[in-house]
Amino acid sequence: MKTNYLYIHLACAILLAACQGAPHASQADRAMLLQDVTLIDGHGQAPREHMDILMQGDSIAQIGQHLDTLGVTVMRLTGKTVMPALISAHVHVGTLKGTENSGDFYTRDNIVRQLQRYQDYGVLQVLVMGTDRPLLFETGLADSSLKGLVPGARLHSAGYGFGAAGGAPPAAYGMDLVQRPATPEEAARQVGDLAKLHVRNIKMWVDNMGPGKPKMDPGVYHALIGAAHQNNMKAAAHLFYIADARQLVKDGIDIIAHSIRDQVADDTLVAAIRDKGIVYIPTLALDKFAYAYGDTPPWLDNPYFRKSLEAGAFELITSQTYRDGIRNNTNYPDKVRAFETALKNVYILHKAGVLVALGTDSGASPARAQGFSEHMELILLVEAGFTPLEAITAGTKNAAKALRVDDAYGTLETGKKADLLVLNENPAQNIAGTQSIFRVFKAGQEVSQGPQ
Ligand SMILES: [Zn+2]
Repeated sequence: MKTNYLYIHLACAILLAACQGAPHASQADRAMLLQDVTLIDGHGQAPREHMDILMQGDSIAQIGQHLDTLGVTVMRLTGKTVMPALISAHVHVGTLKGTENSGDFYTRDNIVRQLQRYQDYGVLQVLVMGTDRPLLFETGLADSSLKGLVPGARLHSAGYGFGAAGGAPPAAYGMDLVQRPATPEEAARQVGDLAKLHVRNIKMWVDNMGPGKPKMDPGVYHALIGAAHQNNMKAAAHLFYIADARQLVKDGIDIIAHSIRDQVADDTLVAAIRDKGIVYIPTLALDKFAYAYGDTPPWLDNPYFRKSLEAGAFELITSQTYRDGIRNNTNYPDKVRAFETALKNVYILHKAGVLVALGTDSGASPARAQGFSEHMELILLVEAGFTPLEAITAGTKNAAKALRVDDAYGTLETGKKADLLVLNENPAQNIAGTQSIFRVFKAGQEVSQGPQ
């Protein structure tokens, strides 16, 4: 007996030493072949049929036809389509729970739960636009998530956003920690503090969000943008009006984080946005959801939609009170018009060569369901005039560029990380096919079979 125990202990000790000596050995050795798929690589070219993808460790080792199967696990996927995982460059995480948004809900559990939901919907990276809270940085969650050590989508944070005192955004709905600098000096100092948290983007709200409210002083946002650039950060702006877009573009904004919605963009502005390499994130889903529940939208019966909602949200947004609140509001026609203007602008900008990236504002309210909104955004891009492949590029390659992770993510090619979706249907034929998730792979590991 004693000898056996000793033997077992010895074996354990040897195994432990071996594992500690080469912690990634098993991961590096793991190889899996996704065999005979239709490949959408994210670059926008026509899908390639009967392709094999060899994943080794966390990356793509090879893409080709009839690849060697010796010594690798083979997943035969005839009839399936593979595309890069989605990336959403404008979301909110952790402040939504049930039918409310509040800073009180911002716990590790709630954050991870929502990152896992994004993952179930094939979204493996998200940029949280200005509603994060100290817990994210103090507990190391921000760094761990980016390294892929936390389950779910990798969280990129814009830290604590910037707004106007007494103006946008409202302090409620979990936005009580938004900073409201009174002077350019204060603005620059606060950006410097965010840089210390390794935040790579800042978010500002440049909008009155209704008549009579104060807007951010142009001197303040000029200082925010300047300080961001000094710290190698990109500056993103919430906006609505074309006049604000013009000024922000002049001042060097890097990311327009919502559509221009009051007017169709003129040639001069379009050319400036393109020539300065500004990223345009239209968040069309937000504008659709702002009025759609005044009616019975066609996706209500879609189980894919229902599974993405927080508890109680379906009942809330389909209630007569909610419907009447939208329908009978005097601003209802304005909301419809804003959406239609947004559709026109995104297409004009896209055709002119502006980089359009997927982003939705999901998680900012119960009606903006995390995961489903991202797939809805792709549908709306197609409604705006994008081809399905162009919409997919916006949600993969372009969004990776917006997050500055395109060296490793956003397209499927040798050497890039194996973040990809296996779909039952081909979304190049019908963009709604992105909802037919069969498997989600994050860094070469199967992490989900879609929303359950
Ligand atoms: Zn937002």
